Amino acid sequence: MIPGSRYFPIGLAALAAVFLLASCEKAAPYLDQVKKALDRETDEELAARKPVAPEDIPPPPAPVKMEPVVNKEARVSILGYHDFTDGTSSNDMILNVEDFRRQMQAIRDAKLPVISLRQFLDWKQGKSDIPAECVMITIDDGWKATHTLALGVLKDFGYPFTVFLYKNYINVGGRSLTHDEVREIARSGGTLSSHSLSHQNLSRKGGRGDEAYDAWLREELVESMRYLEETYGDTGAVVKTFAYPFGIYNDRVLEIAREAGYEACFTVNGKKTGWEEKDLEIGRYVVHGTTLANFDPALDFGGGAVTTGGRKLLAEQKSEDGTQKGPLVSVTPSANSVVGNRLPLIEVDLSKLTGVDPESIVLRVSGFGRVSHRFDPASGRLTYQIPQRLRVETCAVQLSFRHAGSKENELIGWTFQVDPLANYLSSDSAAPVKNDSLPPASTDEAALTPPAATPSL
Ligand SMILES: [Zn+2]
Repeated sequence: MIPGSRYFPIGLAALAAVFLLASCEKAAPYLDQVKKALDRETDEELAARKPVAPEDIPPPPAPVKMEPVVNKEARVSILGYHDFTDGTSSNDMILNVEDFRRQMQAIRDAKLPVISLRQFLDWKQGKSDIPAECVMITIDDGWKATHTLALGVLKDFGYPFTVFLYKNYINVGGRSLTHDEVREIARSGGTLSSHSLSHQNLSRKGGRGDEAYDAWLREELVESMRYLEETYGDTGAVVKTFAYPFGIYNDRVLEIAREAGYEACFTVNGKKTGWEEKDLEIGRYVVHGTTLANFDPALDFGGGAVTTGGRKLLAEQKSEDGTQKGPLVSVTPSANSVVGNRLPLIEVDLSKLTGVDPESIVLRVSGFGRVSHRFDPASGRLTYQIPQRLRVETCAVQLSFRHAGSKENELIGWTFQVDPLANYLSSDSAAPVKNDSLPPASTDEAALTPPAATPSL
């Protein structure tokens, strides 16, 4: 027999007592409730009470905030520039400023909107939408010509842009930007972003041990961010993005960039950026000074997986004798037009295409997703009445269909803008519009406004 086991029943009783006490403790609130119920006012007492004044009625709970539905099929072409000259240069990183102006004009001619870094980040983070196809402009290193040559052109076009600066080449004389020039850039549509402290290849450990390497990376990534925010805090600079020097990084660099709180980091891997693209490995087309080898593909959205043929179908067609025939597919509201009605009727004229399989047609509208349109095979006319006021300023529409017997999807994507002042116009009723009324006769708006041009291939 184990010594002390005779105390077992005593121990058990003590345990039970403790447990009982604990349950009483737990029972206390319940007993309170019972007591309250017993103390309840009688019916007479209740009737005698004054009715609740309207101002005492608690307000209804705030409506659930609807998250905007972003167009996850949108694509951004991000251009990366470096230095500029008003003369000529054989250095690929230096671009003649008149060539730069022509490129900015080409973006405009292609009807591609230029978005800001903030718009880009908000879209990537699912907060707000961007046009289905658009461009973002970045300039690296902080050469003086960013201020003396490029800034004027960008201001002329009203394009937002981003400059990636590295601390060791700011305000150090020569061809570097002065602090005041950086401030002027920041106040003229330029977003300041980090390009490290020293502009060294961050993937190179350079004989450092693991700890020393991490510490060095933190300096380059964290200190450069802090420096820009502190030095240019008077311009409201908040640094959220980083461009890897030479576009080079490794897993450790990615980890420390994430730790540092960067929302996006940029490489020099020329490709369109989709919504699924990894935030810390965003590609850019580095535009060369001597060839258009990177610029032209950057502007070509026609050959991609999403809008195959789209721009071509919407583009003006010329017959053999050179006369304009109008686009194969015309759309209303037309591409890049501004509408003053938040309840527009979307119309697509497919009559010039033969053999469209009506069953294959899918229409998507930003904010509404896939919608049920009306399609009349006899007239080739498709319509969709926006059922609720558009709350976005840029509305993206995407149409896909197949020709009968074909397995390939044709995709057409375009965007139009909604005049923000349309909010205050009385012409559009606040009541939802039903989609069963027959659409009014088509206007020739699509034909009057030239649609997006086909970029050169
Ligand atoms: Zn650089």
